[in-house]
Amino acid sequence: MLRDEHFYDYSTNIIEEEPGVEPEEGRDPAIFDARQFREHAETIIPALESYLADSSMRGLRLIDPFVLLSTAKDLMTKEHDSIAPLDKEKLKAIVDLYIRTGIQVHSPGFMGRQFSGVIPLSGVIDMVSSIVNQPSSFYEAGQLPNIAEHIIANEFNNFIGYHPDRFTMITTSGGSLANLTALLAARNDKFPGVWTEGLPAMAGQCRPAIAMSAEAHYSISRATGILGIGENQIVRLPVNEAGQIDINQVEPALDAAEKRGLKVFCMVASAGTTATGAFDSIDELSGIAGKKDIWLHIDGAHGASLLLSDELRYKLKGIEKADSLAWDAHKMLFVPSPCSLLFYKEKEKSYGAFQQVASYVFEKEPTVYTAFEGAEKNFECTKRPMIMNLWVLWALHGRALFSSKIEHLCRLTRQAHHVLETEPGFETLHQPESNILCFRYAPPELRIHPVPGFQVEIRNRICKQGQFFISKVDINNEAALRVVFMNHETTVSHFRMLLQAIVKSGRQIINEYKTGL
Ligand SMILES: *Cc1c(COP(=O)(O)O)cnc(C)c1O
Repeated sequence: MLRDEHFYDYSTNIIEEEPGVEPEEGRDPAIFDARQFREHAETIIPALESYLADSSMRGLRLIDPFVLLSTAKDLMTKEHDSIAPLDKEKLKAIVDLYIRTGIQVHSPGFMGRQFSGVIPLSGVIDMVSSIVNQPSSFYEAGQLPNIAEHIIANEFNNFIGYHPDRFTMITTSGGSLANLTALLAARNDKFPGVWTEGLPAMAGQCRPAIAMSAEAHYSISRATGILGIGENQIVRLPVNEAGQIDINQVEPALDAAEKRGLKVFCMVASAGTTATGAFDSIDELSGIAGKKDIWLHIDGAHGASLLLSDELRYKLKGIEKADSLAWDAHKMLFVPSPCSLLFYKEKEKSYGAFQQVASYVFEKEPTVYTAFEGAEKNFECTKRPMIMNLWVLWALHGRALFSSKIEHLCRLTRQAHHVLETEPGFETLHQPESNILCFRYAPPELRIHPVPGFQVEIRNRICKQGQFFISKVDINNEAALRVVFMNHETTVSHFRMLLQAIVKSGRQIINEYKTGL
């Protein structure tokens, strides 16, 4: 425990308002009143409580944006010359509108996206972060968040296996930014002059290139554009039936790229592809990357969380050999978004992402304080203390909270896959590797009467009916239905209900199409 002697005593420093003096215009004390804060919270918490307690099947009610626009405008004050007094009814109405217009992530009917119904306690901590407002890039601005990052880094690294004295971790606002940051570090490591001289200095020597599969998340190709590598310098690694990088074709693809004058400096593998949740073979890819002096980045935005499970960790075998790893806690660790972790095998290389001097913030020699902060390794300056939502859960409940939920969701996905295999008219497309499952409804009738855009139309109708939220994805250039099990309330029975709804909609679509012909 920190004793009181660690803190200044500010209690004698209060300046009393002079009696009888009206507060100046623009200093309405009620706005900042502590008791009012409690009152507002007490207005809002019951609404959230009933939202969380509602276990009905709900997906998303998609609203005409112009209708929503006018509803939102009706809730706004017309008064702008003096501070409008708070209208509690409108506050309630705004919160109610906010809750009801969202994808219902806490309902068992939510099976469509990779963000999750959050563990409620992490939402409460998020509110604390919003009130105490401690942007966490610098130690002095967020002391506990920086310590929490340090703790999570070390505890999570136990499951990665980097050398404890050499690795480092930062937090970023989202996996896309984590991927971009890692790729920057990779580029600056392999082309040391580029940060100061720019890419033109490279002209004539070689063309930097990045290798990835067609299944890589779009943030990777965007990063290629942002980095000045150019999308044309993406080397596409062929994938196998399971959607994984085909190991046998990696070296030939890299050799062919080299012959074309490309210098592949970075290879990106997915630990959980977005489409189907497939895991690339990190162990084997790291062997090839090591041999060819290529930086291996693992995009584990979705699937790195499986590292926390003794049962599922094997899917990331070899992870300790990768140079960097992006890991979204707002996906499979069920905290509010964004909360992303970026790990580097070598701390030194993390500084390479943003080599620059800003004397007003960066000390030349790290002090005992700055050694604990991530600012030099981070693009963001003001940054949410996102780690607190994760650390508090980890601190108070421990690893099993996460591993048991992850294992449950992956088991549920395997069960759902099994149901699909026995259900007439359904077509499975892959073995489930995590909690993502893609399939098609393709009854025999469809072969006689092919309906263009059939899967997409099913998906749209299912969502429109409001009970379920699912997504769609293209597999082998053909649309498919996609479910992502993110909610521990969802059971196999819910999935069977979804299949019934799909069959019903599918039959309707076929009939309408036949009568329309
Ligand atoms: C979700 C996802 C991303 C993007 O992460 P954000 O946190 O949404 O920015 C990147 N890669 C993969 C594999 C993902 O699943």
